[in-house]
Amino acid sequence: MSWFALGLELRRWRRAGQTPVLWWRDDDARTPSPELDRLLDLAARHGAPLTLAVIPDGDIPALAARLGGRTDVCVAQHGIDHQNRRTGPAAGEFPPEWRRIRVATLLRAGWSRLAAAPQASRIFVPPWNDIHPELAQALVDCGYAGWSAWGEAPVAGRAPRVDAHLDLMRWRGGARFRGEGRFLADFRKQLAARRRSGDWSAPIGLLTHHLAHDAPAWSFLDRFLAWSVGRGGLAWGALPELLSAAEH
Ligand SMILES: [Zn+2]
Repeated sequence: MSWFALGLELRRWRRAGQTPVLWWRDDDARTPSPELDRLLDLAARHGAPLTLAVIPDGDIPALAARLGGRTDVCVAQHGIDHQNRRTGPAAGEFPPEWRRIRVATLLRAGWSRLAAAPQASRIFVPPWNDIHPELAQALVDCGYAGWSAWGEAPVAGRAPRVDAHLDLMRWRGGARFRGEGRFLADFRKQLAARRRSGDWSAPIGLLTHHLAHDAPAWSFLDRFLAWSVGRGGLAWGALPELLSAAEH
C-alpha cells in the first residue's frame, strides 16, 4: 500500500465531486510535558485543528496555562481517571454492574475539574473505547454535546458520536509506529467504505497518543499533516462542529 494507491482513491472522490473530512484526536494528556509541547507545535505549524482528550485527574490549571489562547485546540474529557475497574481482558473505568446514576456522578465530577480549561468542550472520550451499557444515556443526562470512541466500537444510544479510525500506533507487543504502509492502507479502506456506501460526509478520525510516540511516529505525523492540511480535495474539521453536524 502506498501514497500512489491512496491518490487513486482520492481521485475517485474528486470525480464524484466529494471531499473527505478528516479530524484529529490525541489521547491521555494529564499535564504539560515536552511531548505535549511537540504535539501542540506540530498542530500550530500545520494549522490542523486538534482535540486533546484529557484525563481530568491531572494538573488541569497547568495544562490550561500551557494552552494559553490557542483557539485551534479543543479539550475533551478522557474518562474520569483512566483506571481499569474491570476484571477480564477488556479494560474499562466502569464495571458493568454499575448503575447509570453512579456513572453519571463520576462523569460530572470529572467534568467539573476539566471545565476550568478555557478550551474545554463537554465531549466525552471513553478510555479503551469502552462503552458501558449506561454510558450513552448517562452522557445525555449530564448534558454532554457528544462523544468519541473508536470507529469499530458498537453503536450505543443516540448521543452524537464522531469516532477515530486511523491509529498512528500499534499496541500489541509494546507501543510503536503503526508503519506507513499499514496507516495508508487503513486510510484508503476508510475512504473506499464511505464511497461505496455513499456516506461521503462521515468524518475520518486520526488518533494519536503523544506520550507513546517513537521517532518514526513523530516523523510520519509531521509528513502526514504537511501532506493533508490545505490540500485540495481534503478537508480538516474540528470535533465540536462535527458533533453539531452529526446531531442533524
Ligand atoms: Zn486513554
